[in-house]
Amino acid sequence: FAQLEATDPEIASVVVGELDRLRQGLQLIASENLTSPAVLAALGSTLTNKYAEGYPGRRYYGGCAQVDRAEEIGLARARELFGAEHANLQPHSGASANLAAYAALLEPGDPVLAMELPHGGHLTHGSRVNFSGRWFRTVGYRVRADTELIDYDEVRDLALEHRPKMIICGATAYPRLIDFAVFREIADEVGAYLMVDAAHFIGLVAGRAVPSPVPHADVVCATTHKVLRGPRGGMILCRGELAARIDKAVFPFTQGGPLMHAVAAKAVALREAALPEFQTYANQVVENARALAAGLAAEGMRPVSGGTDTHLALVDLRDVGVTGRDAETRCDAATITLNKNAIPYDPQPPMVASGIRVGTPSVTTQGMREAEMRQIATLIARAVRADPALPGGADTLAGVAAEVAELAGAFPAYPR
Ligand code: PLP
Repeated sequence: FAQLEATDPEIASVVVGELDRLRQGLQLIASENLTSPAVLAALGSTLTNKYAEGYPGRRYYGGCAQVDRAEEIGLARARELFGAEHANLQPHSGASANLAAYAALLEPGDPVLAMELPHGGHLTHGSRVNFSGRWFRTVGYRVRADTELIDYDEVRDLALEHRPKMIICGATAYPRLIDFAVFREIADEVGAYLMVDAAHFIGLVAGRAVPSPVPHADVVCATTHKVLRGPRGGMILCRGELAARIDKAVFPFTQGGPLMHAVAAKAVALREAALPEFQTYANQVVENARALAAGLAAEGMRPVSGGTDTHLALVDLRDVGVTGRDAETRCDAATITLNKNAIPYDPQPPMVASGIRVGTPSVTTQGMREAEMRQIATLIARAVRADPALPGGADTLAGVAAEVAELAGAFPAYPR
């Protein structure tokens, strides 16, 4: 870091500023985490220099002996941890992993059945502003209005009607477990591939806190930077018979040279995720999310579907009369970082939204438990209700920020 400061004080000050932000506030973005110093060390290593197009032992560049070792170690760890026949650690991101899965299994114009974005699906599940919606005929399924759970009957009906070539399950803002066996059954009924987008919850699978999609899916796509606590990036797991198609879809079809520093950092994260402590961590992430959802419910903020089985809760703010956008802004002012989020059947446009999404991966990494989650719920409730345009609002937000700083200071991110 001293070298960065000497060479580029401007960027050094950004790095310090970000570290201060992490240390002073509460990070409740469900898709974020705090990687270990070991992961950061691999990311900041000389492996960033190496071109290594291809796969271990089959590269288009010389000098790959060391990066081959890193990738082989990482692949073995991924296969072992998830019980997968084949793994690929090269996707640059979750979206790149999904693109490769589409490319491996489909032709442009093929029908795909996936969860609608406003109901919790991801942009890569058929949004018109994404390749998935432009180049494929995507049909969306939703959650039921009464239970706010996936409507498996609708999924089956749509599958029978549209005969998709691939069905996707796995979401960005769905707090409950997904029944992969039912999805497998429906996929088999119509002869479709089943792709599970486990971007959000693969870390919970690694920590044995939720059931694994691997035995049910043809392909599992994931990110490595969420609950899994690795570097920003993607990963694909698949059945052995699809291995060559997946590998070719990643390179050379959708990507060039892999980011070998990131591949090495993924290997480090996979080693950490295989330790018994990670199972304790993953289970605590879920317990904390449950406690946070219950705490918010007690403050008059309704968790969508009544609660959570995962690392995140989606919270309907209509009863408190505050939009998701205002809630996000007010929490930001109180140094609580979370995001506005559409709720199922949301009457508001996405940039306003009626809800917020909160997740517990980062605060659990910091060592917080249920008692702190109850405290965080009251802090969120006070911030959300504090209108800075009204007398006393700004003072309330400053008061919440002071309490946040005290709590965060007791569980420091990246302790000195
Ligand atoms: N799939 C799902 C379900 C996600 O939630 C996300 C990101 O949040 C992605 C894919 C894309 O991951 P990335 O942002 O790394 O491209």
